[in-house]
Amino acid sequence: MENKKVFIYANDTEMSKKIEATLRTKLVKSGLRVFEEYTEDTELIFCVGGDGTLLHLMHDLDFPKTPVVGINTGHLGFFQEVLPEKIDDFIFAFNQGNYTLQPYSTVKAVVETEHGTFTHTALNEIAVKGEPTYPVHLNISINESFVERFSGDGICVATPAGSTAYNYSLGGSLVDPRLNLLQVTPIAPMNSIAYRSFTSSILLPSNDKLIVLPFDATDKKLSIIFDGNIAEYSDVVSITMGLSRRKVNLVRFEDFNFWEKVKCKFL
Ligand code: NAP
Repeated sequence: MENKKVFIYANDTEMSKKIEATLRTKLVKSGLRVFEEYTEDTELIFCVGGDGTLLHLMHDLDFPKTPVVGINTGHLGFFQEVLPEKIDDFIFAFNQGNYTLQPYSTVKAVVETEHGTFTHTALNEIAVKGEPTYPVHLNISINESFVERFSGDGICVATPAGSTAYNYSLGGSLVDPRLNLLQVTPIAPMNSIAYRSFTSSILLPSNDKLIVLPFDATDKKLSIIFDGNIAEYSDVVSITMGLSRRKVNLVRFEDFNFWEKVKCKFL
């Protein structure tokens, strides 16, 4: 049987370059075949960097079906499972088949403008924001039901994976990635006798769609921020968001426990 084909994706910090070189030597020594380019028959992708590098990988490789394991050289490393000093342990466990795959949902936004329709996918979140100096007013519906006219800086629609990122800073809840849902968290919502917006998050079940319509002509200029990347649109007609069909798989050690990870990264 031919040895497994793997690919290494790394950011360009000194530390990551050093770890990448060490990793490459160890992988070859253990019998794995390291390829210079990612192809769909790759059996495992190593991602050397932080959570931000893993997000870049997802966008550069178009949310690959191949499982990804993170080697953490970043600051937080929430997605990144393996510390550099545990690389040998991971390679041994992988070659023995002693690992688990953790599927993660992604979120999709379809932006309809007067000039065309555009789609964005994200692993963490998609935020919709207006112009930085003015509150934006958005009519928000869930499926066919009108829910609220939101006023404030915008909304953040986060996957369970993204619940520990921007969503958490906005006061949203931490969500176990085994739950297949989306969390809609307001960004600086206005709540006065002039404007009424929900101030807490809303949870959407897996098949529901969130539909956002600009309230007024001045609200049609919107920014879509997907995993930290920005796309700016004018003349927006509607934005429809929901869970995407695309899932990605992160490789974890067999004893991975989401709440242990949360505790050690946040408390
Ligand atoms: P960045 O500005 O370089 O880093 C943002 C920080 O978020 C890094 O510490 C990164 O961890 C961490 N992070 C990313 N995904 C995470 C996750 N799922 N859970 C916990 N922490 C996570 O930008 P970036 O690295 O390209 O990341 C883009 C992300 O930044 C966006 O998707 C958004 O969630 C987040 N963000 C947060 C705020 C905020 O909290 N106020 C504002 C804007 C954007 P590493 O150090 O391991 O890379």
